[in-house]
Amino acid sequence: MTTPFTHLHVLLLSSLAATAATTTTTTTTTTTTTTSRFLWLTDNHVDLWGDVNNPSDKKCAHMPEAQWESAVQGMLAADKHPDFIIFSGDFVHFGARNSSDLSRKVILDTITDVTLRMQRNFPNIRLFPCLGNHDYDPSNNWPSNTTESAWLLKPLAKLWAPWLPASALKTVAETGWYSADIVPNKLRIISLQTNYWAAYNQFTDISSNDNLAHQQFIWFENELIQAKKEQIKIYINGHHAPIGNYVSGNDVDMQDGYV
Ligand SMILES: [Zn+2]
Repeated sequence: MTTPFTHLHVLLLSSLAATAATTTTTTTTTTTTTTSRFLWLTDNHVDLWGDVNNPSDKKCAHMPEAQWESAVQGMLAADKHPDFIIFSGDFVHFGARNSSDLSRKVILDTITDVTLRMQRNFPNIRLFPCLGNHDYDPSNNWPSNTTESAWLLKPLAKLWAPWLPASALKTVAETGWYSADIVPNKLRIISLQTNYWAAYNQFTDISSNDNLAHQQFIWFENELIQAKKEQIKIYINGHHAPIGNYVSGNDVDMQDGYV
């Protein structure tokens, strides 16, 4: 299915690639304030096969390799040593190259390139990724049966091992979602697999308790309760909000009482 769905951050960031931001965490037991700097990037839609110098390459839909490399250099210029990096999904290109070249191999090769390039350029700095609707084949349709997505999720758990703790890698391999402490006892990231909450996903079934849409809400709620109990601040990462039907050119919120 070719998608009519783009998201606001696509427009904001695919040309910018990264932006520096600051966050402040304050302990509850003392008045100490810790300031951290992090880079945020999203919706790269990297097209490793596109040629930026060839205007006749009409297939080059998104960010060809040269532009992607320049984006990485731009991030280094913005901050070589951020405290951490957040990526909010859509590693992989879509659109004009059409779905026929979005094979499993292309998707894995693209995510591998993005991961290894970031690990090479920002050694020892953790990046907290999540998955977008274009990071799967076929686009948008993330199965609720995770044995069907194991071809992607299991290699991701290996690729992302330098960034995430074992507990997070376990849930990445199973479902794609995870939580991980960024600053122990202070700041935790909850990284959602929002593709399970999208009406455009043919496998989303919010009425079924077995569906990952429902399972993720249970997991998310437990994570929030636990963080509150521990008095840890959280950063929620995800590709988009829960999305309902596509009406008149707009995504509308899921009308099911969850939101
Ligand atoms: Zn997207």
